[in-house]
Amino acid sequence: MVPLIERKRNGGTLTAEDWSGLVTAYAAGQVPDYQMAALLMATLLNGMDNAELDGLTDAMLQTGVQLSFGPEAPPRIDKHSTGGVGDKVSLVLAPLVASVGVAVPMISGRGLAHTGGTLDKLESIPGFRTDLALDHVRRQIERVGAAMIGQTDEIAPADRKLYALRNATATVEAIPLMAASIMSKKLAEGLTGLVLDVKRGSGAFLPDVDDGLELACTMVALGERRGCPTVALVTAMDRPLGCACGNTLEVEEAIAALRNEGPPDLMEVVYALGVEMLLLAGAAPTAAAARATLEQAIATGDAAEKFGQIIDAQGGNAGVIEDPAVLAQAPAVAVYEAVATGTVHRIEPRMIGQAVVAMGGGRQRMDDVVDPTVGFVITVKPGARVEQGQPIASLYARDEAGIVLGRQALDRAVRIRDEPAPGAFPLVSHRITADAVSLVE
Ligand code: URA
Repeated sequence: MVPLIERKRNGGTLTAEDWSGLVTAYAAGQVPDYQMAALLMATLLNGMDNAELDGLTDAMLQTGVQLSFGPEAPPRIDKHSTGGVGDKVSLVLAPLVASVGVAVPMISGRGLAHTGGTLDKLESIPGFRTDLALDHVRRQIERVGAAMIGQTDEIAPADRKLYALRNATATVEAIPLMAASIMSKKLAEGLTGLVLDVKRGSGAFLPDVDDGLELACTMVALGERRGCPTVALVTAMDRPLGCACGNTLEVEEAIAALRNEGPPDLMEVVYALGVEMLLLAGAAPTAAAARATLEQAIATGDAAEKFGQIIDAQGGNAGVIEDPAVLAQAPAVAVYEAVATGTVHRIEPRMIGQAVVAMGGGRQRMDDVVDPTVGFVITVKPGARVEQGQPIASLYARDEAGIVLGRQALDRAVRIRDEPAPGAFPLVSHRITADAVSLVE
């Protein structure tokens, strides 16, 4: 290990064989975390060329098995986000797209640093299992049209370990490590197409749009090199997405969205990504037709019903669709009022995400247990006029100390000024394909 770490530290490159050996040994427990952490930090500082990136991604992919489907099987499309605050899009999108006949084999991650993770959100549904055996996953996809799982000992096991290690060693924000982590999971799914949601803004791992575009282009090219048609959208993470931030709270909001009561910003991002999924699947002739199909599935209740089927197939209590009260509830709840009269200028997403973690809703150490109930529901958006004393958020915590922490975070994160708010990022700003990067009107 030491010569390899030295080479990477000094700006050199490792071969595909080096990466393969390293990742296999790490997944098998033969390389200690401290040496892998040093290598990850050297990689964050010095980057990787395409050959190394391909080598690392393949090595991660090959530590596990890949889902395979026969040539007659229908299209299988997934989407993955680079991570954000309040980003419950996957919970809405997987059942929505499956409900219109496109299969979604979704392998997601856990909360990473200040961002939430789809797996932690799903596991807040009583009984819901995300560690299914591959056979179960394949049968569920054929029967229900979607499965929502995490890395297991079978699927992308190296990413599971590396992801947790990166979370604990400040090495998440490396473009090649993010690309390999995301794409190794996605390429294990036997997809016929992939849509990526690359976040930009202060709540994203890569706040700067140019870095986001580089990550998007890196992943799209990697997907295409591996025979998986891939499209990316750059979406806004300069404020939380939707209103709810925290695991059970986000499940409740996702269910509301599936029942046609979702916040408009969340629905806009869901539809934009869903349209790309249907186009990649060849399930709609135009973007307008794809959007109409998706809106219809929400309006008829088909998408909500599909989420119930997925929950049921994975051992969860599908009664949550009708009655979100089956979710565990936070012991302490409080209302937060605007501290001044004026216009909301910013709702700083990173501070909100960090507060959810500090209140117990995420991990500061690899082995921390997540409390699903804690978090915020913030009912205003940047640009809103508010009166001093007006309720603008609810806090959910384990105890009074958590409420105090949450209040302090909102005091810092929600900025109210007596002048017009600066413009926010467009919800969807760029579309990246193998051929072009285009601005979204
Ligand atoms: N999501 C992932 O799956 N991996 C990363 O590294 C970041 C976001």
